[in-house]
Amino acid sequence: MFQTTTLFTIYLIFNNNKTMSTNYFKTYPDNKGYYNEFGGVFLPPNLEEEMKRITDAYFSISKSHKFISELRSIRKHFQGRPTPVYFANRLSEKYKGRIYFKREDLNHTGAHKLNHCMGEALLAKYMGKKKLIAETGAGQHGVALATAAAYFGLECEIHMGEVDIKKEHPNVVRMEILGAKVVPVTHGLKTLKEAVDSAFEAYMKDPENMLYCIGSVVGPHPFPMMVRDFQRVVGIEAKEQFYEMTGELPDKIVACVGGGSNAIGLFSSFLDDDECDIYGVEPAGVSMETGKHAATMTFGKPGVIHGFKCYLLQNESGEPAPVYSVASGLDYPGVGPEHSMLKDMKKVTYDSITDSEAIDAFYELSRLEGIIPALESAHAVAYAIKLAQKYPKKSILVNLSGRGDKDIDFVVDKYGLPD
Ligand SMILES: *Cc1c(COP(=O)(O)O)cnc(C)c1O
Repeated sequence: MFQTTTLFTIYLIFNNNKTMSTNYFKTYPDNKGYYNEFGGVFLPPNLEEEMKRITDAYFSISKSHKFISELRSIRKHFQGRPTPVYFANRLSEKYKGRIYFKREDLNHTGAHKLNHCMGEALLAKYMGKKKLIAETGAGQHGVALATAAAYFGLECEIHMGEVDIKKEHPNVVRMEILGAKVVPVTHGLKTLKEAVDSAFEAYMKDPENMLYCIGSVVGPHPFPMMVRDFQRVVGIEAKEQFYEMTGELPDKIVACVGGGSNAIGLFSSFLDDDECDIYGVEPAGVSMETGKHAATMTFGKPGVIHGFKCYLLQNESGEPAPVYSVASGLDYPGVGPEHSMLKDMKKVTYDSITDSEAIDAFYELSRLEGIIPALESAHAVAYAIKLAQKYPKKSILVNLSGRGDKDIDFVVDKYGLPD
C-alpha cells in the first residue's frame, strides 16, 4: 500500500494540471443544486424546506473528521474495500484490447449500491434519525438499505410495488431477514413509480424522525450530489489501482447507466483527463425500433421527474414514458442530472446495448473469466467487448457494478444455456 501511495503521489506531482480539479466539485452542483440546466428541487414548499435541512446537515456533518474516519473504517472492515482492479486475461485475448474490471461485485452485498447506502445511513445516524425509508424496484436498493439499517440499528421501511414483490421474491425475503418492513404498494401499475409516490407520502408524515434514502444519483438536490460523493470511492480507488498495475491511466472507461450512480462513481475521477475517453451505456432493450428500451440519453428530452430536471423519456404531455430493459436496475425513464449535463458538455459519450448483446456478454464473462456479472453490468461488459474489437491497442477499464447471482434463474429460464 505504501508503494502504491508513493507512486500515485509522484504521478500527481507530475500531472498536477491534469488531475481532477477540486473546482469541478465546487462548481457542480451550484448552491441551488443545478448542474447547468439540470437538477434542482421541484417539490411542494414543505418538502423543499426539508431538502434544505438535509443539505445543510450534509455539508456540516460530512466534512467532519469524525464522519470521514467512521465511513473510512466501515469501507474497510464491513464492506471489504478497496475492491480489486482485475485484468481480464482470457477476455482480452479473445477480443484483442486490454480489458480491466473494477470489481464492485466483490463489495459486501454484491454491488456498488452499499457505497451510498452506508453513507446515507451514517448521515441519518449523525442527524439523530430513527428510521430509513425508501422505495425499491427490483429490490436491490431495498436490500442494500436494509443492510445499512441493520448495521446502524435503525428501523427500515421499504415501499415496493405488488407486481415487483411477486417478481423479486428472494430480495423481499432478504429484506425481511435483515429486519426491514416491506410495504406493498397496490395502486396504479404497482411498480417502481407508485412505490416512489408511496414512500414519499409516508416520509412526509414524519420527516423529523426519518431519512429518505434515494437509490441513485437522482431525485431532488442534495441527493444526486450526496450519492455521487459517496460513490466517488470507486473512481478514487480505481485510478490509483490502475496506475499501480500499468504505470498509466486507462485509455477508455466504461460503466452502465440506470440512474447513473455506479457510472458517476467511476467517471468522477477521470473527468479532467482529456486523454481518457468516457462511455456511459444505456439499455437498448429489445431494440430501439420497437420502442421497448430505456435509452434516455438517445431519445429523452429535458423534463421533470421525481423532483428534479433531467433528460427524460416522456409522452407528448410530459408524463414519464413506460420503459423496458432485461436488467431491472437500468429500467428508469430519467437519468441523473449530472449525466444530463455531461452529455451536453460532450465529456461523456452515451451509447446503448441491447438485451441480447447483454445476455451474450453475461455468458462470455462467466465462461472466460469465472465471473457471473449482474445483467446491468453485462451491458458495460458488452460495450467494452465492442470497444476492444475496434481499438485493439487500447486499455479499457470497466466498472463491474454487481454480481449476477440475482439473475441466474431468470437468464437460464428465458434464454437457456449456450452450447
Ligand atoms: C442498481 C444497479 C445498477 C444501476 O444503478 P446506477 O445508479 O445507474 O448505478 C447497475 N448495476 C447494478 C449491479 C445495480 O444493482
